[in-house]
Amino acid sequence: MSDRTEPRDLHESIRRIVTEIENEIGDDDPELLLESAIEPRPGANGRVEEAVHDILVEIGEDPAREGLVGTPDRVHRMYLELTAGYHVDPERLINKAIFDVDYSEMVVVKDIPFYSLCEHHLLPFFGSAHVAYIPSRRVIGLSKIPRVVEMYARRLQVQERLTKQVAEFLMERLEPEGVGVVVEATHLCAAMRGVRKPGTVMTTSSVLGLFRRNDKTRAEFFAHLGRPAPGA
Ligand SMILES: [Zn+2]
Repeated sequence: MSDRTEPRDLHESIRRIVTEIENEIGDDDPELLLESAIEPRPGANGRVEEAVHDILVEIGEDPAREGLVGTPDRVHRMYLELTAGYHVDPERLINKAIFDVDYSEMVVVKDIPFYSLCEHHLLPFFGSAHVAYIPSRRVIGLSKIPRVVEMYARRLQVQERLTKQVAEFLMERLEPEGVGVVVEATHLCAAMRGVRKPGTVMTTSSVLGLFRRNDKTRAEFFAHLGRPAPGA
């Protein structure tokens, strides 16, 4: 059972993003491209546009002025794009990208840029994710790890959950010895609203398996990131 919207119901621009996350560049599924002409799409009932229009009125703006006429439609499409991760099929994403190999050293992918939306304010938070795991037989194609981050980032999120979801996904799919994920991000809801100092970076981490149990593993991971392990 899945809460994903079937790809055929998605607007073309959103499907393109979903397809990009699921597939390697260049291996577009011709079937998907064909389906992309199909309308209608979820949210095509005009209610989002109506709601944005109402917000404009309520904050004292004139939705009819030139610069704002297209805004409700643009905002609607933007939210569909920024939340396209809900529609990504993890099976398709990892399809053909998990390999059996005899390798048991730590794999580290650093500085994965991401953009997400804070679910409390619907404002962006963005930064970098750093992902590591120690394989036990199975490895995943390196280019897939940023896609996993993107699948979870393109949703309404809190940073802690994003961090945990990436770690748990890899733990489940690869059954490795352990996984470590560190996410560093700036939250516009904090920076713009002056709750915290602008430029403050929030760091979250999720460590599973060996990364949780073994101080040396955790220290090695944080050394890769050029920082001391928390509590070390
Ligand atoms: Zn927020």
